Amino acid sequence: MKEQLQMLIRLQELDSKIRLHDRQETSFPKEIEKIQREIDERAEAFQREVEKIETLEKERRQRERDLEAAADQIKKIQGRLPEVKTNKEYQAFLSEIDHLKEKMDQYELEIIERLDKVDTLQEALKEKEAAYLKEKEKLEARKKELTEQLNHLPDDLKGLKARRDDLEKKIPPDLLKRYHTLLEKRAGVAVVYAKNEICQGCHMNIPPQLFNQIQKCEKIILCPHCNRILVPPEKPDEAAA
Ligand SMILES: [Zn+2]
Repeated sequence: MKEQLQMLIRLQELDSKIRLHDRQETSFPKEIEKIQREIDERAEAFQREVEKIETLEKERRQRERDLEAAADQIKKIQGRLPEVKTNKEYQAFLSEIDHLKEKMDQYELEIIERLDKVDTLQEALKEKEAAYLKEKEKLEARKKELTEQLNHLPDDLKGLKARRDDLEKKIPPDLLKRYHTLLEKRAGVAVVYAKNEICQGCHMNIPPQLFNQIQKCEKIILCPHCNRILVPPEKPDEAAA
């Protein structure tokens, strides 16, 4: 009987792995997709930070061109001053020059403002980039790992199922039938360890007398609460409370 129980334990291990692999065939692609979304979102967020700086730089360059244009205009006006005939005309030119100088002051202010902002943002961007690249690397590694596992799943499953089929041939048909019925009724777990007088399937207490019988491995013993097949822990020292 001990040998049969051991085969049931192996069979349960294989069936649990097969169940896990089946679940992973659905869950891994979803997880990979989720990781990819996160990678994309982080890339976009980082790109937005870069664009913020680019916009400020663009504005600054525009203001530099405005500044140059205003200076050129002042020079032009000054060049025409000798041709001025009336005082009124002269005053108009001077007033135009003053107006342009005011504008130039404003442009200079705006240029300095943007230079300062770009400096601050660029400093922050260095830190953000380091954090982003680190996180991206982590996510890419996880994605690669999952993709590799996903690619191996069909072969792994085939191997596990072949081992299960071989093992099932060695188990007496009536015991195998009981196992399969339990497997179906108990969410894929038919054989569980009785550890510290507790059923590891339903986590209820096992009466001491029954617990002692389990250790002897003389017959199939079912949990009085969940009906699963109880087996002693593989390491003898785990049996004791
Ligand atoms: Zn139980």
